[in-house]
Amino acid sequence: MPRPIQATIHTQALHHNLQRARAAAPDARVWAVVKANAYGHGIERAFEGLRSADGFALLDLDEAVRVRDLGWRGPILLLEGAFDARDLELCSRLNLWHTVHCQEQIDWLAAHKTHEPHRVFLKLNSGMNRLGFDPDEYRSAWTRLNALPQVDEISLMTHFSDADGPKGVAEAMQLFERVTHDLPGERTVCNSAATLRHAAGLPTDWVRPGIAVYGSAPDFPAHRAADWGLLPGMTLAAKLIAVRAIPAGASVGYGSAFVADKPMRIGTVACGYADGYPRIAPTGTPVLVDGVRSRTLGRVSMDMLCVDLTEIPTAHVGSEVTLWGRAANGAVLSIDEVAASAQTLGYELMCALAQRVPVTTD
Ligand SMILES: *Cc1c(COP(=O)(O)O)cnc(C)c1O
Repeated sequence: MPRPIQATIHTQALHHNLQRARAAAPDARVWAVVKANAYGHGIERAFEGLRSADGFALLDLDEAVRVRDLGWRGPILLLEGAFDARDLELCSRLNLWHTVHCQEQIDWLAAHKTHEPHRVFLKLNSGMNRLGFDPDEYRSAWTRLNALPQVDEISLMTHFSDADGPKGVAEAMQLFERVTHDLPGERTVCNSAATLRHAAGLPTDWVRPGIAVYGSAPDFPAHRAADWGLLPGMTLAAKLIAVRAIPAGASVGYGSAFVADKPMRIGTVACGYADGYPRIAPTGTPVLVDGVRSRTLGRVSMDMLCVDLTEIPTAHVGSEVTLWGRAANGAVLSIDEVAASAQTLGYELMCALAQRVPVTTD
């Protein structure tokens, strides 16, 4: 028997979550963001659940090729645009729309030979200071692009630094409007947090939800995935491979990091940090055993972790342990809760699912 660990990608949940994003921005078209191999879900596996999107947004050119190989003829947007001049050849060949965020990318376009002019998304730096033209450079960049025969349509884009937090998007949005108000072209401004929290008030022709589509709340713990009506897109489940009773004073795992203060029943689970489970997750990180909520004990090791079975007397070798996602009995453990316990985000956990974990879809 293969080692009892398995990830499952929930096709219906992806579809449902995409519909939630659509409902939050009913007048906008929706890019399903599938960068980082669909946030660890696998582009090919996620595609079926996401094919009702209006387009796919990603940043690796290889991933764009994979989406075209799936037969997708609709829009594909490269969120970081070309990384060098030669990338524009692939954009021409596969009809990829691409972000333009710096002068070098305009230089490459100006030198690019193509029969089909490109659609580009001109990015404004609205405060993140990673990519995009500063407000005082933006309009001259637009004018320069607009004069190029290689460009046929210019859309306007920015990415918010604070859509998930208390600062919100008002200031960045004011800046975007001030700089772009009289420029023609479609607008795209919203990631998941902005789509769910702010889209109703924003003039945006396209939204770009990523994390929400995979069933994680972009603004946890202010909201939980269930508050937004999102369902887990991925379940990571393993089984108990050992069960034992330990007396008060016994320790569990490396470094004796957990010491029982009473007699306990514990289980050993076939999941460790080499599977992508976060090593930093401390004692008390939530898990489901046969769909019943419990907690981890002691340090996570490479191939195993331990859980508390004291309150789950029916648990036995072979019992299902849900590390995140949906248990067989329907109980849900949000990836956001596990991530918060490990001082990270659902984003990082789903992207870090290890290669050695077998994945199926349902
Ligand atoms: C990743 C990304 C998104 C999606 O962000 P989420 O927080 O996952 O919704 C949207 N826009 C850009 C430019 C991105 O890089």
